[in-house]
Amino acid sequence: MDPVAVASTTRHLTATSHPLQRAGAWAVCVMAGRASAGQMVAADLDAVATRIVEDVAEAASADKDTPRYDWWKVLFALYPNSKATHASRPRDRTVLKSALVEMFAPDDHDRPVRPCTFCGAGSTSIWAKSMLPMFDTNKALNTLPPGLAGWPVCRGCRLAMWALPYGSWVTAGSATVLSCEQDSAEREFAERNVVRARRIMHAGFTGLVAGVRPELVTLRALRNAGPDLSATTLWSFKNDNQEPWLRVTRTRRAVPTFLAAVQGNAPLRRGWRLLETALTQRDKNGQVTVGGPAEAARLLFEAEDGRSRSLSRQLHDLLWDTDRWRSQDRAALTRLAYSYEKEVHGMEPNLSGVATLIADWIEHGSGSPRGRLAEYRNAGLNGYRLGALLYQASFRLKFDGRAVTISAEEWKPLVTQRPRAWEQRMLLAAEVLRILDQRGVVVNTPPADEREREQVEQLMREPILALHDDELGPA
Ligand SMILES: [Zn+2]
Repeated sequence: MDPVAVASTTRHLTATSHPLQRAGAWAVCVMAGRASAGQMVAADLDAVATRIVEDVAEAASADKDTPRYDWWKVLFALYPNSKATHASRPRDRTVLKSALVEMFAPDDHDRPVRPCTFCGAGSTSIWAKSMLPMFDTNKALNTLPPGLAGWPVCRGCRLAMWALPYGSWVTAGSATVLSCEQDSAEREFAERNVVRARRIMHAGFTGLVAGVRPELVTLRALRNAGPDLSATTLWSFKNDNQEPWLRVTRTRRAVPTFLAAVQGNAPLRRGWRLLETALTQRDKNGQVTVGGPAEAARLLFEAEDGRSRSLSRQLHDLLWDTDRWRSQDRAALTRLAYSYEKEVHGMEPNLSGVATLIADWIEHGSGSPRGRLAEYRNAGLNGYRLGALLYQASFRLKFDGRAVTISAEEWKPLVTQRPRAWEQRMLLAAEVLRILDQRGVVVNTPPADEREREQVEQLMREPILALHDDELGPA
């Protein structure tokens, strides 16, 4: 190979745009106590290599029924065919360690130098796919060109690819890494995961408190990074021999602005807290089984395949639980829905005219208000049916001699197939319910559980996106 083609660099580690390498590079920095990849020196790489080798050897020789075996499960989900995880791995720790030490040895420049697959630095090691997660699978992030025995990978990147489980949010069968326009958010995500990794190694997954998810850790890091526009992507994967998978979810760039708005505004904060509380699930002993803050955080992430639940949909469904909310809480959830559409989708529709028409019809049309409310609920999200209901409602009110101040032209955007018409119909429902509540139209039975009320009021005084801080307590 032409030596000129190999980028000459004195850097020991570069954080590239490859999401897995980048997450690993952040983990290497955190483990070495360095602020960024550019500050790394050769001795830092030595120290990180020693730690990784020790941890891998410990996990690979752990008994199956001990907490320490959990770290082996993590390694197996990332590198199922590696020397450390394969069923035929050496059980002798010394033999295994010497194989691992070799994996992370400095480049030997007496051998042919090739540009590193990730960062382009001169590299003399060729790595097979068994050492690199998600390489040459049918969900691959990288596929080898024909005729090459493997990928050239420099020492910094070799370490980064094996520091990956420290820098990602791991479960016993998957890993999730974060890409974000804000370096500080990526760093915070890695910092937390490095501490969490240590805890898993010592106490196993059962040593962690349930109910925290990578989306929650990401949103906290994003909020701490400030309100500037910034997109994030979470890459979750399992590098399985038979069925590898990769799932990608994203937040919109305006999410930090939305979070800042929620944090700085009492009714919005109340709305978010009510959402978190509503999404929390407990077992019969009162232990949290599904964490509300983490579930709420998930709603701000959109899956690439479109199969994810949106915040707007969740709030819409919660608001229809009409027997659940008092006026103040209903108003807070409605404001949260409006704020999300405004900050994140740039949508600020004036729905008061159409909402008033529907509320008038529910209040004064024939039959019981509760029955008409149910009728509206069935039609509300479907453009065609909502259009039919609006015609019916306006004629009914006119026949009864009531003023109808809005024309069909004005509700057209809500009943035709326009972008975001669906979200507008959800906001319309929130507004209709709010107006009915304000007028005192009895369509619900107010909640009676005072103890739950007190718990909610207590939560309102705490910041949003709270983690269970004891998740990372002393190991
Ligand atoms: Zn490299």
